[in-house]
Amino acid sequence: NDGRVLEIRIMGYGSGQLLLIARDITRVRQLEGMRKEFVANVSHELKTPLTVLQGYLEMMQGMAEPGSANVKAMEQMQQQTNRMRSMVEQLLVLSRIEDGTGVNLEAKVNMTLIMDTIKEEANALALGQYTLKVSCEPGLNIYGNEVQLRSACSNLVSNAIRYTEPGGTISISWQRVPLGAQFSVTDTGEGIAPQHLSRLTERFYRVDSARSRQSGGTGLGLAITKHALSHHQSELNITSQLGKGSCFSFTIPPHLIDES
Ligand code: ADP
Repeated sequence: NDGRVLEIRIMGYGSGQLLLIARDITRVRQLEGMRKEFVANVSHELKTPLTVLQGYLEMMQGMAEPGSANVKAMEQMQQQTNRMRSMVEQLLVLSRIEDGTGVNLEAKVNMTLIMDTIKEEANALALGQYTLKVSCEPGLNIYGNEVQLRSACSNLVSNAIRYTEPGGTISISWQRVPLGAQFSVTDTGEGIAPQHLSRLTERFYRVDSARSRQSGGTGLGLAITKHALSHHQSELNITSQLGKGSCFSFTIPPHLIDES
Protein backbone atom coordinates (compact mmCIF):
# COMPACT_ATOMS: atom_id res chain seq x y z
CA ASN A 1 0.00 0.00 0.00
CA ASP A 2 2.96 2.38 0.34
CA GLY A 3 3.56 2.30 -3.44
CA ARG A 4 6.53 -0.04 -3.27
CA VAL A 5 6.78 -2.79 -5.87
CA LEU A 6 7.91 -6.22 -4.75
CA GLU A 7 8.89 -9.07 -7.02
CA ILE A 8 8.07 -12.35 -5.32
CA ARG A 9 9.34 -15.71 -6.49
CA ILE A 10 8.20 -18.98 -5.02
CA MET A 11 10.34 -22.02 -5.69
CA GLY A 12 9.92 -25.66 -4.76
CA TYR A 13 12.79 -26.62 -2.46
CA GLY A 14 13.28 -30.33 -1.93
CA SER A 15 11.00 -32.38 0.31
CA GLY A 16 7.79 -30.37 -0.04
CA GLN A 17 9.38 -27.13 1.22
CA LEU A 18 8.93 -23.79 -0.50
CA LEU A 19 11.48 -21.03 -0.83
CA LEU A 20 10.05 -17.52 -1.08
CA ILE A 21 12.27 -14.72 -2.42
CA ALA A 22 11.06 -11.10 -2.28
CA ARG A 23 12.95 -8.32 -4.02
CA ASP A 24 12.15 -4.62 -3.81
CA ILE A 25 12.07 -3.45 -7.46
CA THR A 26 10.49 -0.02 -6.79
CA ARG A 27 13.58 1.87 -7.99
CA VAL A 28 14.00 -0.32 -11.08
CA ARG A 29 10.38 0.35 -12.04
CA GLN A 30 10.78 4.10 -11.41
CA LEU A 31 13.85 4.29 -13.64
CA GLU A 32 12.11 2.23 -16.31
CA GLY A 33 9.13 4.61 -16.16
CA MET A 34 11.45 7.63 -16.49
CA ARG A 35 13.18 6.09 -19.48
CA LYS A 36 9.88 5.43 -21.24
CA GLU A 37 8.60 8.93 -20.51
CA PHE A 38 11.86 10.46 -21.76
CA VAL A 39 11.75 8.49 -25.04
CA ALA A 40 8.09 9.40 -25.58
CA ASN A 41 8.77 13.11 -24.91
CA VAL A 42 11.86 13.29 -27.12
CA SER A 43 10.04 11.53 -29.97
CA HIS A 44 7.12 13.89 -29.64
CA GLU A 45 9.37 16.98 -29.55
CA LEU A 46 11.26 15.84 -32.66
CA LYS A 47 8.11 15.76 -34.78
CA THR A 48 7.73 19.53 -35.24
CA PRO A 49 11.31 20.37 -36.32
CA LEU A 50 11.21 17.42 -38.70
CA THR A 51 8.01 18.65 -40.30
CA VAL A 52 9.52 22.13 -40.73
CA LEU A 53 12.71 20.69 -42.27
CA GLN A 54 10.72 18.54 -44.68
CA GLY A 55 8.55 21.49 -45.69
CA TYR A 56 11.55 23.71 -46.55
CA LEU A 57 13.28 20.85 -48.29
CA GLU A 58 10.29 20.31 -50.56
CA MET A 59 10.21 24.03 -51.33
CA MET A 60 13.94 24.04 -52.21
CA GLN A 61 13.53 20.94 -54.37
CA GLY A 62 10.95 22.81 -56.39
CA MET A 63 13.44 25.64 -57.00
CA ALA A 64 16.60 23.58 -57.72
CA GLU A 65 17.98 23.48 -61.22
CA PRO A 66 17.17 20.05 -62.76
CA GLY A 67 20.23 17.80 -62.99
CA SER A 68 22.37 19.97 -60.66
CA ALA A 69 24.39 18.54 -57.76
CA ASN A 70 21.91 20.20 -55.42
CA VAL A 71 19.10 17.96 -56.65
CA LYS A 72 21.06 14.82 -55.69
CA ALA A 73 21.97 16.24 -52.29
CA MET A 74 18.35 17.17 -51.63
CA GLU A 75 17.15 13.69 -52.58
CA GLN A 76 19.54 12.27 -49.99
CA MET A 77 18.30 14.76 -47.41
CA GLN A 78 14.72 13.83 -48.20
CA GLN A 79 15.48 10.10 -47.79
CA GLN A 80 17.17 10.65 -44.46
CA THR A 81 14.45 12.91 -43.07
CA ASN A 82 11.85 10.33 -44.15
CA ARG A 83 13.81 7.68 -42.28
CA MET A 84 14.01 9.86 -39.22
CA ARG A 85 10.27 10.47 -39.39
CA SER A 86 9.54 6.71 -39.53
CA MET A 87 11.78 6.16 -36.51
CA VAL A 88 10.13 8.93 -34.51
CA GLU A 89 6.69 7.56 -35.37
CA GLN A 90 7.73 4.00 -34.49
CA LEU A 91 9.25 5.17 -31.19
CA LEU A 92 5.95 6.82 -30.31
CA VAL A 93 4.03 3.65 -31.21
CA LEU A 94 6.46 1.62 -29.08
CA SER A 95 6.15 3.88 -26.05
CA ARG A 96 2.33 3.78 -26.25
CA ILE A 97 2.28 0.02 -26.69
CA GLU A 98 4.87 -0.63 -23.94
CA ASP A 99 2.76 1.36 -21.56
CA GLY A 100 -0.10 -1.06 -22.14
CA THR A 101 -2.66 1.13 -20.39
CA GLY A 102 -6.07 1.27 -21.94
CA VAL A 103 -5.68 -1.97 -23.85
CA ASN A 104 -9.18 -3.26 -24.01
CA LEU A 105 -9.51 -6.87 -25.11
CA GLU A 106 -13.27 -6.74 -25.37
CA ALA A 107 -13.66 -5.35 -28.86
CA LYS A 108 -14.31 -7.96 -31.50
CA VAL A 109 -11.63 -7.73 -34.18
CA ASN A 110 -12.57 -8.99 -37.62
CA MET A 111 -9.47 -10.92 -38.69
CA THR A 112 -10.80 -11.49 -42.21
CA LEU A 113 -10.75 -7.72 -42.78
CA ILE A 114 -7.26 -7.47 -41.30
CA MET A 115 -6.08 -10.26 -43.60
CA ASP A 116 -7.60 -8.43 -46.59
CA THR A 117 -5.61 -5.27 -45.83
CA ILE A 118 -2.47 -7.29 -45.07
CA LYS A 119 -2.82 -8.91 -48.49
CA GLU A 120 -3.17 -5.51 -50.17
CA GLU A 121 -0.14 -4.16 -48.29
CA ALA A 122 1.90 -7.24 -49.20
CA ASN A 123 0.97 -6.87 -52.88
CA ALA A 124 1.99 -3.22 -52.82
CA LEU A 125 5.36 -4.03 -51.21
CA ALA A 126 6.03 -7.09 -53.40
CA LEU A 127 5.71 -5.06 -56.62
CA GLY A 128 5.01 -8.28 -58.50
CA GLN A 129 8.50 -9.57 -57.72
CA TYR A 130 7.52 -12.25 -55.19
CA THR A 131 5.13 -15.19 -55.10
CA LEU A 132 2.57 -14.37 -52.43
CA LYS A 133 0.37 -17.09 -50.93
CA VAL A 134 -2.32 -15.97 -48.52
CA SER A 135 -4.80 -18.23 -46.75
CA CYS A 136 -7.38 -17.11 -44.21
CA GLU A 137 -9.86 -19.23 -42.29
CA PRO A 138 -13.08 -17.20 -42.37
CA GLY A 139 -15.14 -16.45 -39.26
CA LEU A 140 -12.15 -16.81 -36.94
CA ASN A 141 -12.13 -13.52 -35.03
CA ILE A 142 -10.45 -12.23 -31.90
CA TYR A 143 -11.32 -10.22 -28.84
CA GLY A 144 -8.52 -7.70 -28.84
CA ASN A 145 -7.07 -4.43 -30.00
CA GLU A 146 -7.39 -3.95 -33.74
CA VAL A 147 -4.58 -1.40 -34.17
CA GLN A 148 -2.10 -3.56 -32.30
CA LEU A 149 -3.03 -6.80 -34.05
CA ARG A 150 -2.86 -5.11 -37.42
CA SER A 151 0.57 -3.68 -36.68
CA ALA A 152 1.89 -7.05 -35.41
CA CYS A 153 0.76 -8.85 -38.60
CA SER A 154 1.91 -6.08 -40.89
CA ASN A 155 5.40 -5.87 -39.32
CA LEU A 156 5.94 -9.60 -39.86
CA VAL A 157 4.83 -9.41 -43.48
CA SER A 158 6.91 -6.34 -44.35
CA ASN A 159 9.97 -7.97 -42.75
CA ALA A 160 9.45 -11.17 -44.75
CA ILE A 161 9.52 -9.14 -47.97
CA ARG A 162 12.38 -6.91 -46.78
CA TYR A 163 14.64 -9.87 -45.95
CA THR A 164 13.83 -12.01 -48.99
CA GLU A 165 15.36 -11.47 -52.40
CA PRO A 166 12.97 -10.82 -55.30
CA GLY A 167 11.84 -14.11 -56.81
CA GLY A 168 11.21 -15.62 -53.35
CA THR A 169 7.94 -16.87 -51.89
CA ILE A 170 6.07 -15.42 -48.90
CA SER A 171 3.24 -17.48 -47.38
CA ILE A 172 0.84 -15.80 -44.96
CA SER A 173 -1.82 -17.71 -43.09
CA TRP A 174 -4.45 -17.31 -40.40
CA GLN A 175 -5.88 -20.61 -39.23
CA ARG A 176 -7.27 -22.69 -36.39
CA VAL A 177 -4.65 -24.80 -34.56
CA PRO A 178 -5.02 -27.13 -31.56
CA LEU A 179 -3.99 -24.38 -29.09
CA GLY A 180 -6.03 -21.51 -30.56
CA ALA A 181 -5.68 -19.53 -33.77
CA GLN A 182 -2.38 -18.95 -35.48
CA PHE A 183 -1.02 -16.20 -37.72
CA SER A 184 2.14 -17.16 -39.56
CA VAL A 185 4.44 -15.71 -42.18
CA THR A 186 6.94 -17.99 -43.89
CA ASP A 187 9.57 -16.69 -46.29
CA THR A 188 12.29 -18.16 -48.46
CA GLY A 189 14.64 -15.33 -47.53
CA GLU A 190 18.10 -14.96 -46.06
CA GLY A 191 17.25 -16.69 -42.75
CA ILE A 192 18.72 -15.89 -39.33
CA ALA A 193 21.59 -17.61 -37.50
CA PRO A 194 20.47 -19.27 -34.22
CA GLN A 195 22.51 -16.96 -31.95
CA HIS A 196 20.42 -13.94 -33.01
CA LEU A 197 16.96 -15.43 -32.55
CA SER A 198 16.46 -14.66 -28.87
CA ARG A 199 17.48 -11.00 -29.31
CA LEU A 200 15.43 -10.03 -32.37
CA THR A 201 12.63 -8.43 -30.35
CA GLU A 202 14.99 -6.06 -28.52
CA ARG A 203 14.73 -2.42 -29.56
CA PHE A 204 17.16 -1.61 -32.39
CA TYR A 205 18.63 -5.12 -32.49
CA ARG A 206 19.46 -6.02 -36.08
CA VAL A 207 21.38 -8.92 -37.53
CA ASP A 208 22.87 -6.68 -40.20
CA SER A 209 22.39 -2.99 -39.40
CA ALA A 210 23.58 -1.72 -42.76
CA ARG A 211 21.19 -3.97 -44.70
CA SER A 212 18.26 -3.21 -42.43
CA ARG A 213 18.85 0.55 -42.65
CA GLN A 214 19.27 0.40 -46.39
CA SER A 215 15.99 -1.42 -46.81
CA GLY A 216 14.13 1.15 -44.72
CA GLY A 217 13.97 -0.73 -41.40
CA THR A 218 13.82 1.18 -38.12
CA GLY A 219 14.87 -1.72 -35.88
CA LEU A 220 11.69 -1.33 -33.83
CA GLY A 221 9.16 -3.49 -35.69
CA LEU A 222 9.66 -6.71 -33.74
CA ALA A 223 9.83 -4.88 -30.39
CA ILE A 224 6.42 -3.36 -31.17
CA THR A 225 5.12 -6.76 -32.30
CA LYS A 226 6.29 -8.43 -29.09
CA HIS A 227 4.42 -5.92 -26.89
CA ALA A 228 1.29 -6.04 -29.06
CA LEU A 229 1.25 -9.82 -28.74
CA SER A 230 1.86 -9.87 -25.01
CA HIS A 231 -1.30 -7.75 -24.59
CA HIS A 232 -3.11 -10.61 -26.34
CA GLN A 233 -1.53 -13.25 -24.10
CA SER A 234 0.55 -14.46 -26.98
CA GLU A 235 4.19 -14.46 -27.99
CA LEU A 236 6.29 -14.46 -31.09
CA ASN A 237 7.62 -17.80 -32.25
CA ILE A 238 10.55 -17.72 -34.68
CA THR A 239 12.12 -20.61 -36.55
CA SER A 240 14.75 -20.02 -39.17
CA GLN A 241 17.42 -21.64 -41.26
CA LEU A 242 20.29 -19.52 -42.50
CA GLY A 243 20.16 -19.15 -46.26
CA LYS A 244 16.80 -20.93 -46.52
CA GLY A 245 14.20 -18.77 -44.86
CA SER A 246 12.24 -18.05 -41.71
CA CYS A 247 8.85 -18.54 -40.15
CA PHE A 248 7.43 -15.96 -37.72
CA SER A 249 4.17 -16.92 -36.02
CA PHE A 250 1.98 -16.28 -33.00
CA THR A 251 -0.96 -18.16 -31.53
CA ILE A 252 -3.93 -16.42 -29.91
CA PRO A 253 -5.32 -18.49 -27.00
CA PRO A 254 -8.83 -20.01 -27.29
CA HIS A 255 -10.48 -17.71 -24.72
CA LEU A 256 -9.75 -14.65 -26.93
CA ILE A 257 -11.25 -16.27 -30.03
CA ASP A 258 -14.77 -15.58 -31.24
CA GLU A 259 -16.28 -17.93 -33.77
CA SER A 260 -19.79 -16.57 -33.87
P1 ADP B 1 14.04 -3.78 -38.84
O1 ADP B 1 13.34 -2.49 -38.97
O2 ADP B 1 15.54 -3.65 -38.77
O3 ADP B 1 13.57 -4.79 -39.82
P2 ADP B 1 12.75 -5.41 -36.82
O4 ADP B 1 12.60 -5.19 -35.36
O5 ADP B 1 11.50 -5.54 -37.62
O6 ADP B 1 13.67 -4.25 -37.36
O7 ADP B 1 13.62 -6.72 -37.05
C1 ADP B 1 14.84 -6.87 -36.33
C2 ADP B 1 15.85 -7.67 -37.15
O8 ADP B 1 15.39 -9.01 -37.29
C3 ADP B 1 16.04 -7.16 -38.57
O9 ADP B 1 16.96 -6.10 -38.64
C4 ADP B 1 16.56 -8.42 -39.27
O10 ADP B 1 17.96 -8.56 -39.03
C5 ADP B 1 15.84 -9.55 -38.52
N1 ADP B 1 14.66 -10.05 -39.25
C6 ADP B 1 13.36 -9.73 -39.01
N2 ADP B 1 12.54 -10.40 -39.83
C7 ADP B 1 13.33 -11.18 -40.61
C8 ADP B 1 13.09 -12.14 -41.66
N3 ADP B 1 11.84 -12.42 -42.08
N4 ADP B 1 14.17 -12.75 -42.23
C9 ADP B 1 15.43 -12.48 -41.82
N5 ADP B 1 15.73 -11.59 -40.83
C10 ADP B 1 14.70 -10.95 -40.23
